[in-house]
Amino acid sequence: CGIIGYTGNQGNVLDVLMTGLSGLEYRGYDSAGIAVSNSSLTVRKREGEVSALEAAVPDGDLDGLAGIGHTRWSTHGPPSDANAHPHTDADSTVAVVHNGIIENYQKLRRALEADGYEFTSETDTEVIPHLIRSALDSGAGREEAFRQAVQHLEGSYAVAAVFDGSETVYAARNESPLVLGIGDDGHYLASDVPAFIEFTDQVVYLEDGQFARVNPSGIVVTDEQGAVVETAVETIEWDP
Ligand code: GLU
Repeated sequence: CGIIGYTGNQGNVLDVLMTGLSGLEYRGYDSAGIAVSNSSLTVRKREGEVSALEAAVPDGDLDGLAGIGHTRWSTHGPPSDANAHPHTDADSTVAVVHNGIIENYQKLRRALEADGYEFTSETDTEVIPHLIRSALDSGAGREEAFRQAVQHLEGSYAVAAVFDGSETVYAARNESPLVLGIGDDGHYLASDVPAFIEFTDQVVYLEDGQFARVNPSGIVVTDEQGAVVETAVETIEWDP
């Protein structure tokens, strides 16, 4: 029920992700997980508390270019390690976290399975990495593959994705909250500001139908047609 993402030069992606997940705990959850991109993608996820995830991620175990994290409030498939997010394609080319419900996931899953994409969870979310992979397999570039995958989705979603070997985090939303954070040492995205308020109070709220490309050097927000959208940066008044 919460998403965090980070890319930047602060040095410790893992610390930012774990801090973010702790900041989202108030939203409630039954499992938690992270994915960190380096030359390959590393995914760690566990049913239960963030402390169970922490135990699965020894200090210093994970250094990376960018990462995403998730606390899950299960809607499709019971709480379990396998159903926890992030979800990936078979080769771990891309990792995805999602809040919300994909209403048409059964139809999408049947079509993907018929094309040979194998599922490892019972979630609605897992269609997203396989849709991305399917678009890559059809020749789309990474950003285009993410965009095409999201355009197949009906329902509510805040979604974030990272690819192996890449410092870019891609995001999109429809009827689930997603906010971008602009810091001195990088860029953040989250379901809600408490996830990254200790790092920055400069935010851009993503609107329904918008996409974001988040890099260490900047954020670019686009609309459904791919046109760049002017964004307004707001300063959050925060009294912890
Ligand atoms: N529907 C997804 C699932 O059950 C996401 C739930 C959430 O928003 O945490 O895995």
